Amino acid sequence: MNISNYEEAILNCRFCFMCRHLSAIGNVRFTEVDTPRVRAAMLYGLRTGTNSFDDEDFVDALYRQDLSACCVHHCVNHFDENGLALAARADVVEAGKAPEAVKALAAELAATSSWKASGKGDLAWFEDDTTASDRSAVAAAKKLFAAAKVAPKTITGGCIGKALKVLGFLPEAKAAAEKFAAFLAAEGVKTLVVSNPAAYDALTRDYADFGVKLPCKVLHISQWILQAKFTFAKKAGPVHPLADDFLRNYDGVDAPEKLLKALKAECLPFGTNDEETYNCGEGAVVLDRLHPELVEALAKYVAARADDPERDTLAVASVYVKRALAKAGLRAVTLEELAAKCL
Ligand code: SF4
Repeated sequence: MNISNYEEAILNCRFCFMCRHLSAIGNVRFTEVDTPRVRAAMLYGLRTGTNSFDDEDFVDALYRQDLSACCVHHCVNHFDENGLALAARADVVEAGKAPEAVKALAAELAATSSWKASGKGDLAWFEDDTTASDRSAVAAAKKLFAAAKVAPKTITGGCIGKALKVLGFLPEAKAAAEKFAAFLAAEGVKTLVVSNPAAYDALTRDYADFGVKLPCKVLHISQWILQAKFTFAKKAGPVHPLADDFLRNYDGVDAPEKLLKALKAECLPFGTNDEETYNCGEGAVVLDRLHPELVEALAKYVAARADDPERDTLAVASVYVKRALAKAGLRAVTLEELAAKCL
């Protein structure tokens, strides 16, 4: 089973309650089942025969997780409870026990795995579906490219494997990854800039795990902006930066912090601590499709922690987070929007 690769997390997390306050879903449902400790205990029970994927409540709990990776990031031993949860989903799928809604969503995502490129050259920008849904973020990226006097190819299209992997459909995720890598090779892409942190994580970590070789270097747009060495005419002003699930917890990328410094942003603290996620299930990629009510609850939880919800500007790294927070009446701007305003 895939969970066998996470023995340390199973054996240690099942007795530990240290990171319960970082369980975003547990914080809005007030349920122990939505914490790493109880999930690990349930998966331990799976191995000893006292629990089974026939239990729909157990499987539902696995598909409710926000997958922020805050717990593993802040765990003193970095036990990978997040990887365990992803492995458990893959085991659910392999056992043929995925909920119907999950299977339907995976089939829908797999059908979107095709892409188009417009423009010329070996520099490309991936305008993924989530980013493409926000005109302002797209316009900001294009303004930045124009200011840098580069005209990257724009690649549009659907699932590159990330959401399929998160849902536990590993062969389908790998097939999408192979197809996207072949597409990039055929297009002659040497540098790919991505706005969506989920896409960045897929390309830089998942593809390597799958053994899929990319023909190009991958940069998150915050990294590309820093490399472009803009001279910003304006200061970004006061913002509350929200650390990104993928960029901070999964990938250890500090470009967002460096970019905010370059923009001379006045970075203000948000909430009661800087450890938990305020990203409304970003790490779960499609939580808004599976459980919109939970994403709404997560956004309200964030709104309750804002000093001045109508005026505070929250700096985020993804359109997923911006969109979720906007539904709770919060003002969020993406890093590219903030940078473009400072030109
Ligand atoms: S990830 Fe670390 S802190 Fe969290 S339950 Fe596991 S051992 Fe405890």
